[in-house]
Formats: sequence, structure tokens, C-alpha cells
Amino acid sequence: MGIRILLTILSGGMSFAAPPVATSRSTVGVFLRFERPDSPSFTRRLERDVAAIFRPAGVDLVFPRPQDGTRDYHRVVIVEMRGHCTSWRAAEVSGEAEAAPLGWTRLNADGQVMPFAMLDCDQVARAARRANRLHGPLGHFSTFSRLAARVMAHELVHALLRTAEHRQTDCGRAQLRQADALDQARLDPSEIAALREIGRPSFGVAVAEKTTGGQ
Ligand SMILES: [Zn+2]
Repeated sequence: MGIRILLTILSGGMSFAAPPVATSRSTVGVFLRFERPDSPSFTRRLERDVAAIFRPAGVDLVFPRPQDGTRDYHRVVIVEMRGHCTSWRAAEVSGEAEAAPLGWTRLNADGQVMPFAMLDCDQVARAARRANRLHGPLGHFSTFSRLAARVMAHELVHALLRTAEHRQTDCGRAQLRQADALDQARLDPSEIAALREIGRPSFGVAVAEKTTGGQ
């Protein structure tokens, strides 16, 4: 099911061709799909902040526009953006942050992580409002976009490392901490080392053997 959705979306002229030479840098295409119209100021800032989180790992995130031409990526991730992904509408979202997730990454029937994630802007907005109450007036837009970048970075780590595991790291934690509204997320050294591998052809081969071996 997940694969079918992915192939449908990816039929616009991309390929996964890995470069012939092993490299520790990789280019990842992150395709954002908005449920509602977004605000360019929020989206540009989110893209910039998330790209900055992954840059130390040699991962160049690219956020293609529909009008962009064909190009090759080492990996592709689709991120569905739910709710009101605009700073002004997010400020008006009602309700409290409940236990509902701020984002998630899809697994297939075998429990393998798919390159398909979701970010709930309304839930992020509720978390931002709670953070502003706790920490004082940080500025809703700053808090909202910073938390959204954290959530997206967390889901991209799942998708790119093909792991459902959580760890006690900035980008690997299953739940936000109160202080997370104050700082931009950072990858930890082990995540950086693992992400550097996705640009190497051997990464894809190893996963393909594992997933087709029937074990
Ligand atoms: Zn997670």
C-alpha cells in the first residue's frame, strides 16, 4: 500500500541513480505535500532550518517545487503537511496539545520504515503555544517554526536511516522536552556518522539484500 502511494507520487520524473563514486555527501529530495495552502515565509524558514540540521552530516536537503526539472537524488522522502502550516493561522488553532503525535513516519506491513512521513502543523502549533506559556513570550512564529523543524528532522532521521527506533538524542527522542522550544535541534555524532553512509552505494545494496532475502 505504502509503496503504491509512493510510486504514484514519484512518477514525475525523478530517479534514484546513485553516483558511481563513493561519497560521504548525499542529496535528499524532500517533497512537501500540503493539505492546505501554506505560507511561503513559514515554509522557506522551515526548509532552511531543517537543511541546517542535516548539513553537518553531509546531507544536502533539497525541497523541489512542482515546476523544478528532473534531477537525481540519493534518496527521496515525501512529507505530508497536515493542518494550518501558516504562522498566523497556527496562532489561532484551538485546543490543547494532547497525546496525539506531532508527526510520524509510515511503516509497511513488514514493519519496515517507508520514506513517507507526516507533520501535523496544528499539533505543533498547540505545542508552541504551551511552550510560550512556559517560557514566556518567545514569539509564536519562532517557536512554531523551530518546533516544526525539530519534528521534521526527527521524522527524516527515521526515514533516511530506515529505523523506527527512538534514542535519547536531540533528533531521536520520542517526545519533545519543554526546553526544545528554545533551541534548534542538532544531530548527535552517531546520527551524523550513520547519515554519512546514505550517500554510499553500499548503503542501498545492504538494505536491498536485507529486504529481499525473506528472512
Ligand atoms: Zn519517532
